[in-house]
Amino acid sequence: MSLTYPENINHRYHPKISSDGINFVEIDSSELFIAKKTVEEKIKTPSATIRLSISPDTVWISAQELITTSDNKQWTNELSLKPFITKSKAGESREGKPIEVLRIGESDDKAMIFVLSRQHPPEVTGYLAMKAFIETISSNSEDAIAFRKKYNTYVFPLVNPDGVDNGHWRHNMGGIDLNRDWEDFNQPETRVIRDFANKKVKENNGKIYFFVDFHSTWQDIYYTIDPEQKGNMPGLVPALISETGKEFENYNPNVKPSPGTGKRVTSTSYFFYEHGAESLTYEIGDNTSREFVKKKGEVTAEKLMKLLLE
Ligand SMILES: [Zn+2]
Repeated sequence: MSLTYPENINHRYHPKISSDGINFVEIDSSELFIAKKTVEEKIKTPSATIRLSISPDTVWISAQELITTSDNKQWTNELSLKPFITKSKAGESREGKPIEVLRIGESDDKAMIFVLSRQHPPEVTGYLAMKAFIETISSNSEDAIAFRKKYNTYVFPLVNPDGVDNGHWRHNMGGIDLNRDWEDFNQPETRVIRDFANKKVKENNGKIYFFVDFHSTWQDIYYTIDPEQKGNMPGLVPALISETGKEFENYNPNVKPSPGTGKRVTSTSYFFYEHGAESLTYEIGDNTSREFVKKKGEVTAEKLMKLLLE
């Protein structure tokens, strides 16, 4: 199987293969031939060729392990069996797919946190980090129980369901990168979340103390608001990053504050400048070990709950 790319785009992910659509393994490097466009321009047409053994059985080939809307639905269905978790439809995507939201907690909505994932479809490691983070908040630990009495967590695990199911790179079905639409709100997906958050804040005169948007990229990065800017709980995000870091030896994540003031087009900026939520874009590497992705998601939730309870 050969994939050819437009002139300026190189192949990115190491392809994964599966015989059941659930368990994926990386394709053996000896079966993969990648031609990248180089600076010297020796290769004009970037391509990737995978040598496959074909049989009458179905074979799944995917950039990252596939986690689709139906996989997500299964996860949210299981989670919402817990008495303190409810699932509802906040609205619809451009293609009419439900945009689901989980409410985790037994508090009134005076104190809330908001969580997003998969604005960008192939960012599966970010989704896996979000899952570990949410499962920790939903656990039976002492801190989690205390946390849920004080804070309600609202989670949008798949912000871009159309992009996910159609295999898009970054866009929704309107051809728009949703994480560039938090100023103009031209797309239904961003409007649904904006309206939902506004309603929650208004209904109970509530406050959103923390906001996190999970993504994946080449490496682990935290994009933060300029630490000079004060939201509803100044210092929370720097403390969270430093507390989390202490649990991992020789781990120095890249922290990139966006300098200065003023709204930008991303969700993180929107939730900070509109709601005062201490906001974080949580990027984890495409190739970071899945075990580490999970562990770091869990530790981040543990540290966040402790800090918010203090
Ligand atoms: Zn992203």
